Amino acid sequence: MNIFLAHKDLRIRDNPALYNASLNGQYIVIYLFDQNYWSSNGYSLRQFTFVNDCLKELNHNLEKLKSKIHIYTGGISDLMAWIESHYPNSQIFINQSSDVMYFRKSMFQLKRYFHEQNRINCYENFGIQTRDYNRESWSKCWAKIMNSSLTELPQRNNYELKLPLPTYREFSEDIKKILPSNFSPQKGGEKEAHKLLRSFLDGRAEGYSKKMSSPIEAIESCSRLSPHITHGSISLKFVYQKLLSEIDKTNHKRDLYSFKKRLHWHCHFIQKLQTEPELEFKSMHSMCDDLRPESNPELIQKWINGETGFPFLDACIIYLRNHGWINFRMRAMIMSFASYNLWQPWQKTSPLLAELFVDYEPGIHISQVQMQSGVTGINLPRIYSVTKQSIDQDPDAIFIKSQIPELEDINPSSIHNLELLNSYRDPIVDIKETAKKARESIWSVRSNKDFKKIAQEVYLKHGSRFKKRAYRKST
Ligand SMILES: Cc1cc2nc3c(=O)[nH]c(=O)nc-3n(C[C@H](O)[C@H](O)[C@H](O)COP(=O)(O)OP(=O)(O)OC[C@H]3O[C@@H](n4cnc5c(N)ncnc54)[C@H](O)[C@@H]3O)c2cc1C
Repeated sequence: MNIFLAHKDLRIRDNPALYNASLNGQYIVIYLFDQNYWSSNGYSLRQFTFVNDCLKELNHNLEKLKSKIHIYTGGISDLMAWIESHYPNSQIFINQSSDVMYFRKSMFQLKRYFHEQNRINCYENFGIQTRDYNRESWSKCWAKIMNSSLTELPQRNNYELKLPLPTYREFSEDIKKILPSNFSPQKGGEKEAHKLLRSFLDGRAEGYSKKMSSPIEAIESCSRLSPHITHGSISLKFVYQKLLSEIDKTNHKRDLYSFKKRLHWHCHFIQKLQTEPELEFKSMHSMCDDLRPESNPELIQKWINGETGFPFLDACIIYLRNHGWINFRMRAMIMSFASYNLWQPWQKTSPLLAELFVDYEPGIHISQVQMQSGVTGINLPRIYSVTKQSIDQDPDAIFIKSQIPELEDINPSSIHNLELLNSYRDPIVDIKETAKKARESIWSVRSNKDFKKIAQEVYLKHGSRFKKRAYRKST
């Protein structure tokens, strides 16, 4: 018997582990639902709302092949024991996924256990190096993986079994009861992912490179593929190959080249956590972990609730809380505010922010959080000015008013300049003063004689070998 263990690969197309498991016509599909995983570092049931859509559609597609998803509820080690007692001679098929330590540790044990018995079959999912990591050849390796052939559709199952596990259909009735009731993020599933890719390539991408900075325009102009890529309702390789086949025929080449670069970044960032899993807890540059020794739970709570007293920042957080997504620039500003203006340790703020993202991808999130907190040592610190972003990205305060209706009658200039009297809550900090202090603290560590040496080591391990981007000191 072949067992496909589904995780972040909830699709029928270009799914190497599922396809290979299906080849002998006798396969079962198990999805592990571990509630502890969904509350581990940065995960939340908000994300599972999206995953549930993906499971529903994958199950529907598998049923057409006389197969279906069964759900195992528990941890990975319980699942291993279950497999051993029910299918002691089975072959296990999985796609590689980089994840938080909670998952990684027990998945490592599962792989080792079945590897010793020659029973594990593990396939590449993204363009990362899982063995023989070599930063110098990384880009070549990425291109090779991305350009390799797509996997065919899985084969029909000839062996329908009655498993002593709930089917997805049975599970879906129970799970509805614990999913957040007042949250409806973008829809999950393979059909939706392909629809988004199609509409993006066909026209939504026009102006993408400029519009991606605005929290309003980005909603339509960004691909919105991130949760699909994260949870695997579309493969990154499929997106990349489709893009390459059409890029030179379109009128918006520049925009699509910008998108292409980001597909590369996706794996570049995940590779960092894959290479050094400890980055989940410690700063890339070891001298930066002592920068923010204390945390203030009250300030952190106000920040993550969108109650900072800065209308544009609060509007971005409220939007994110309601929709599970916001554009890159706003994510960077939200994080920069917590790390520089509030001077809070990123280890405390990162999971709270991640829980809000439906597309939470630990490798990308943790690397970006560290970059926006100035603790990598290899990127110049960038302190986003909330006032500047407010004026630049929402000059007429349209976005702000859509999220904070009590400001409806206030003129945009008063909103940007915080001349709000009793119309809105007081700012929790002075942004100019806190930014100045943060800059001094960061540059004081960076001027230490040992800083450069350690930064060079970080660069050799994690730094992109592409031409370095110039970062402005403050925007
Ligand atoms: C603090 C912070 C946390 C972030 N956390 C996540 C996260 O958990 N998951 C996540 O997918 N992205 C994360 N990002 C990166 C980025 O904001 C999102 O990928 C993007 O906004 C997703 O929307 P989209 O799919 O429409 O993007 P598009 O602009 O259409 O990009 C297409 C794809 O490229 C990849 N991509 C785009 N930008 C980046 C980037 N800067 N770094 C790495 N890959 C990128 C994503 O897979 C994305 O889906 C984070 C950024 C910051 C500043």
